Amino acid sequence: MTKHIFITGGVVSSLGKGITAGSIALLLKNRGYRIKIQKLDPYLNVDPGTMSPYQHGEVYVTDDGAETDLDLGHYERFADLTCSKESNFTTGSIYSAVIQRERQGGYLGKTVQVIPHVTDEIKKCISLLDGKDVDIAITEIGGTVGDIESLPFLEAIRQYRQEIGRDNGLFIHLTLVPYIKAAGEMKTKPSQQSVGILREIGIIPDILVCRCERELAKEHREKLALFCNVAKELVIEEQDVKNSIYEVPVDLAKQDLDKYILELLRLHVKDIANAPWEKMVKSIISPGSGEIEIAVVGKYISLRDSYKSIYEALTHGGAANDVRVNIRMIESEEIERSSAEKFLGGVDGILVPGGFGDRGIAGKIEAVKYARTNKIPFLGICLGMQCAVIEFARNVCGLADANSTEFNPDTENPVIDLMEEQKKITSKGGTMRLGAYSCEISTKTLTEAAYGAGKISERHRHRYEFNGKFEKVLLEKGMIIAGRSPETGLVEIIEIKDHPWFVASQFHPEFKSRPLKAHPLFRDFIKASLKK
Ligand code: GLN
Repeated sequence: MTKHIFITGGVVSSLGKGITAGSIALLLKNRGYRIKIQKLDPYLNVDPGTMSPYQHGEVYVTDDGAETDLDLGHYERFADLTCSKESNFTTGSIYSAVIQRERQGGYLGKTVQVIPHVTDEIKKCISLLDGKDVDIAITEIGGTVGDIESLPFLEAIRQYRQEIGRDNGLFIHLTLVPYIKAAGEMKTKPSQQSVGILREIGIIPDILVCRCERELAKEHREKLALFCNVAKELVIEEQDVKNSIYEVPVDLAKQDLDKYILELLRLHVKDIANAPWEKMVKSIISPGSGEIEIAVVGKYISLRDSYKSIYEALTHGGAANDVRVNIRMIESEEIERSSAEKFLGGVDGILVPGGFGDRGIAGKIEAVKYARTNKIPFLGICLGMQCAVIEFARNVCGLADANSTEFNPDTENPVIDLMEEQKKITSKGGTMRLGAYSCEISTKTLTEAAYGAGKISERHRHRYEFNGKFEKVLLEKGMIIAGRSPETGLVEIIEIKDHPWFVASQFHPEFKSRPLKAHPLFRDFIKASLKK
């Protein structure tokens, strides 16, 4: 039977529930258990795919093409799991399912209600994780306890645990224990109140994980244990980490969190294999080969979460090369207002990430030109690749108005154009070219050297593509097609001649990078930047 862990959050949002859930998944996996994990988000969008990164951070894409919450990125990176469509549901997706069933007569004769119909649908989503090959399923509930919209989810997990029994399910509550500077004290009251709200709903957390800036003193643990009905040793401290989020599982393991979880779930406490992870954390914290600086030129720079997976993949690439990667975040419109030299001077590598719409495009194209002409290692991702093609067409092939039809539908030279299958699509949710597609790599390319393989599979999220009609003129001037879709012939990767390292992909390599297995393109991009 699959055992279940439910993780809720209290007091405030942004406590890092996803990182905590990912850390727990990693530790249990390192104890030899097979894990599945999901997130239930209380907002009404059917998925986060239609939200701006400013609203919600990056949209994380799974192999099977789901547009999901960025916490799934934490799950995949921490525990090296593969998430799927079953790993993220929202109030929107749950209500859609219920309403659709109602229209089809699935509840004929009944009044359809939040309880039991919506809560039943939520329980159904949770039980999708059950299986012969799953020992422990982890469900993170998004939002904060006390939010109106969280209520059906909390009621559903209460029922779920009641049905499977105490030994088969447990509740972990992540809460904040703030330090009040003026009083010079840490305060447990917000956590007591948050647990109080849970108790009203009928949930008593088994474990409290306390986010704090400072060490949790014995008296605080005792107070929290007494007033929250939690055993003292199950009040776990999760202090802010100094250097890297990958320290979190190490800190939690020191307090035996994973061991207590297994005991509560009546599972055998097997030995833990944490050594490779600990070694990786050390190499991130104090690398042997100094530091380099990589510029990321984007349009959602002011919110760090917008490019979460890219920043993480750069860190992994650094760990693989034993070097610290400092990131210079540059708003591409700043380049438009001044010069590329001012913002990019002195960097060791330049990365242009994905994006939508024409704001900031001119600055991104300037950044590509700067990397190309100054022979600075360059990695372009999705829109970043499209900008690289536009730049090359304009400045090397002399097609002055070359553009993507996303930005200028009337251009004479649409080097990037809407994919054929996209032309009839008008609806916005889940309609891009999404998820994993295979790609065949050309021989004697930097890409081949990186992957060491002829056929790869990578994740996509786009509507536009390299326009094959311009292939000839681009290749004549020194562009290289380094990868193609074997099914459709679509260009997936380009490089350029006479440059130390210039690679751009239509897919998103950042989604498949892991701390212990840096993505080959990120690893080699950092290696080339280090050489420079
Ligand atoms: N806007 C571009 C497209 O739809 C690029 C998308 C992206 O960078 N994810 O093709």
